[in-house]
Amino acid sequence: MLLTNFHTHCHYCDGKGSPLDMVEQAKQLNFKAIGFSSHAPLPFDNDFCMQLENLDAYVKEITALKADADIEVYLGLEVDYIRGLLSPSDTKWDALGLDYKIGSVHTLAAPDERYPMLSVDGPHDEFKTLLNEVYQGSTRDMIETYFHRVGQLCGEGGFDILGHYDLVKKHNKALQFFDEDSHWYREVAISTLDDVAKSGVILEVNYGGMLRGATDDVYPSPWLLKQAKARNIPIQINADAHAPHHLGVHHQRCREMLLQAGYRQQRVLLGGQWQDVAL
Ligand SMILES: [Zn+2]
Ligand SMILES: [Zn+2]
Repeated sequence: MLLTNFHTHCHYCDGKGSPLDMVEQAKQLNFKAIGFSSHAPLPFDNDFCMQLENLDAYVKEITALKADADIEVYLGLEVDYIRGLLSPSDTKWDALGLDYKIGSVHTLAAPDERYPMLSVDGPHDEFKTLLNEVYQGSTRDMIETYFHRVGQLCGEGGFDILGHYDLVKKHNKALQFFDEDSHWYREVAISTLDDVAKSGVILEVNYGGMLRGATDDVYPSPWLLKQAKARNIPIQINADAHAPHHLGVHHQRCREMLLQAGYRQQRVLLGGQWQDVAL
């Protein structure tokens, strides 16, 4: 399999290691291309995104790395979708000269005085506050809101890769707050794939949850990959690497999962073009 990774964090946001450390590791593993996708600055205090004042330095540093002939390097951002506040479709990203954007839902609402952060991706306690206080313990209400946001993100567009489709399951291994087999869950998780298909974006197969031990599975779960294949949604394998040693860990496992789901190709950026290459 041709190895690539387009979901990569480094010390500009919540990742460890420099962009050069990441490139060196990717070269060591014979990757053909690596794309950087630091968390784009958010308009409020948080502990995972790049600071706005570092954005120019990030763009310059990644752009300089592109001159390296041994591996293709691409400049991207992972942009949060927070309805009414921030979107990959905002025109403010246009001037940066990005090669691509990942669109992701991490946070279900803008923070206020009571709740500084309401992310489905954060620590257990933060997640419990979101579920129990904001959604009064209604798992179904919270999860349906999450998927509706993913659908709205796809509707607004302005990005190339949809980040960790079912991230809302991240805490389910530890907290067991819902059953992935339940009818209502399957219904919302499957119907939102119609929005993904309509948007034409790439659905990433993301093993970041597995790297951290949070999940036993990729995002999206294998049963959803079969549904994605039935809708001809293009896919791409990504580590969601937050350190150089994350690169490549489960690429082969993802490949096998995708072959089982019926996929034979993944869509990647090579030679400056999106292209479908054999798994
Ligand atoms: Zn993310
Ligand atoms: Zn990420």
